[in-house]
Amino acid sequence: MIKHTGRTKNLGVIGYPVEHSLSPTMQSAAIEEMGLDYSYVAMPVRPEALEEAVRGMSALEFIGFNVTIPHKMKILPLLDALDENAKMIGAVNTVRIQDGKLTGYNTDSIGFITALKKRDFAIRGKRAVLLGAGGAARAVLWGLIAQGVASLTIGVRNPDKVKPLLAAFAAHLSISLFHWEEEAFRSALEKADLVVNTTPLGMAPHIEAMAPVDWRLISPQAFVSDLIYVPETTKFLRMARENGNRTMNGEGMLVEQGAAALKIWTEREAPTQLMTKVLREMLNT
Ligand code: NAP
Repeated sequence: MIKHTGRTKNLGVIGYPVEHSLSPTMQSAAIEEMGLDYSYVAMPVRPEALEEAVRGMSALEFIGFNVTIPHKMKILPLLDALDENAKMIGAVNTVRIQDGKLTGYNTDSIGFITALKKRDFAIRGKRAVLLGAGGAARAVLWGLIAQGVASLTIGVRNPDKVKPLLAAFAAHLSISLFHWEEEAFRSALEKADLVVNTTPLGMAPHIEAMAPVDWRLISPQAFVSDLIYVPETTKFLRMARENGNRTMNGEGMLVEQGAAALKIWTEREAPTQLMTKVLREMLNT
């Protein structure tokens, strides 16, 4: 049982709404296991109160905090510095406060890549296809580029909206962007070694929804991932398994992004096995 003292260092997560966040339970379990005198709490911050809240975190001498929807992009101009990942992705999910200076990080990227590596998927030289191009997709694609993926194709429902968001990555790898019904996208699916659903399609309660892919095109050798973790097996992953593919849901990414944030704040490795166990218990209740 954690006992807070006058010396307890404060951490937390800001979002709106934030009551469904799994981070307080997952991070608190890790903090206790690591024997740290830290607290981690959920803090609802209305969009119009973001600037005031961020200043408040510094005034209250928090050592850091996580950032979730809807603040991941809006917080950027309120910070003193951004690490390379956060700059490229254009979103922040972790802030560290040192000597009153706020630095923004994005650990979603390393979270996805670490989870994939733990499944023994070697990224270098592989052809990846993503469905969707929101904030999580940009974290995934930046991680894949940094790990030496050979090609990246993105299928979305509205390519014109997405084009400007991908411009920053063009200097590192040429990304092919298509409407997901286009023939060229179907052809990329046929050659894919890795297929990732980054859309919320299929997330509870709309569990029968699925990003549109023709499973007859996808090689059973491809590795298929969905960033969703509720339900544990989305229709997308169920279809992939029926197709013979190895699969991974979003649980590993969630744990690893949290572990990477803890490392930024504490400079220590987090107990990811325990975090996974705690997360599963929460998801199953
Ligand atoms: P986001 O920024 O809102 O992006 C969502 C993407 O999905 C956009 O490309 C959007 O297209 C597309 N999309 C949304 N609804 C759609 C629909 N009905 N039909 C077709 N396309 C649709 O969201 P995000 O932050 O990237 O999150 C995406 C998913 O990843 C969510 O399920 C989230 O829970 C999950 N996630 C998981 C983790 C993890 O740790 N496992 C971390 C972050 C996110 P438009 O631009 O056309 O709307």
